[in-house]
Amino acid sequence: ERTTVLITGCSSGIGLGLAARLAADAARRFKGNGATRRWGGAAPPGVSPGQAGAGGRAGAGSAARAVLSPAVFATMRDLAKGERLLERLGGHCPDTLEVLQLDVTDPRSLAAAAQRVQGQRLDVLVCNAGVGLMGPLETCSDQAMKSLFDVNLFGAVRTIQAFLPAMKRRRAGRIIVSSSIGGLQGLPFNSVYCASKFAVEGLCESLAIVLRPFNIHLTLVECGPVNTSFLANLQHPDPEGSELQGLDAETRGLYRRYLRHCQSLFCDAAQEVDEVLQVFLEAIGTPCPPLRCVTTQRFAPLWRLRLASPDGSAYVGAMHDFVFGRGEAGGDQP
Ligand code: NAD
Repeated sequence: ERTTVLITGCSSGIGLGLAARLAADAARRFKGNGATRRWGGAAPPGVSPGQAGAGGRAGAGSAARAVLSPAVFATMRDLAKGERLLERLGGHCPDTLEVLQLDVTDPRSLAAAAQRVQGQRLDVLVCNAGVGLMGPLETCSDQAMKSLFDVNLFGAVRTIQAFLPAMKRRRAGRIIVSSSIGGLQGLPFNSVYCASKFAVEGLCESLAIVLRPFNIHLTLVECGPVNTSFLANLQHPDPEGSELQGLDAETRGLYRRYLRHCQSLFCDAAQEVDEVLQVFLEAIGTPCPPLRCVTTQRFAPLWRLRLASPDGSAYVGAMHDFVFGRGEAGGDQP
């Protein structure tokens, strides 16, 4: 029996890796019905979302729709970036895959994707799209904070809202959400990002309780650092640049040290996408997946400390020492 999966944020990183992996799944569990492959609801890669997308073509497109049944819907904001997924698949798009335009901040694009999938049993929804924002809180603009929440939190909410009713009607399904260690514990200079992932955690934990009688499993995959374009893509001010001019020297010094810590943490602790994908595959394949799965045990001691000492002071001290070193309890050295 095939499993139908829809994934958001498939133009790069974890989403791209998962889509490619599932579409090429050796066990053929994600096999389509043998129909020819389609791209963006009929459009070839490279066509802009305005021209393509799920609602992009009627007529021949809708006739084809009736017989097509791909098992992996890889969705992305910008279909032009679909080339990378195609390359990963060796230039050949298997009949198990359909690429759809989906911007999680755009309700119309979500409605169009939901419409395309309608009538097919969607077994697994993977809410993976996400963005980062790093830097001293004083430098985070209103616009940057709102856009981040629009993708990381409201994007996940909208995506779940679009596909949940059908899962509830079937009384089956699973929802997997790309969360983060930053959703379990605060990280310096990532306040807004962590706030968004903490919000995602609260959202999912609350929803999981209601979904239990519907036989819908919700799993948060808690990623640590992963080697994707995430770090390179995330907005962050240059510690020597003009953006930090009005900021006190002490915070600038801490931020510089944090960036160095972050570079070295990524160098020696970042996981490869393939390693992280194992956790997603387990969440897809296990009969009763847990609410939370971590991709690495590396941060478990800090998380345990946070849980064991609910007033938070032990965690704040330990995290400070972990990032900035001991002997500077107040972080007073620039
Ligand atoms: P990535 O930047 O390669 O992938 C994120 C994807 O989300 C991109 O393809 C991007 O185009 C997409 N996206 C952004 N805004 C979107 C929108 N409005 N609509 C649809 N798609 C949108 O990074 P990644 O590491 O693969 O990130 C995937 C998820 O993993 C994110 O939710 C991220 O927060 C989480 N995560 C990543 C790391 C890491 O170190 N890489 C760590 C913890 C958690």
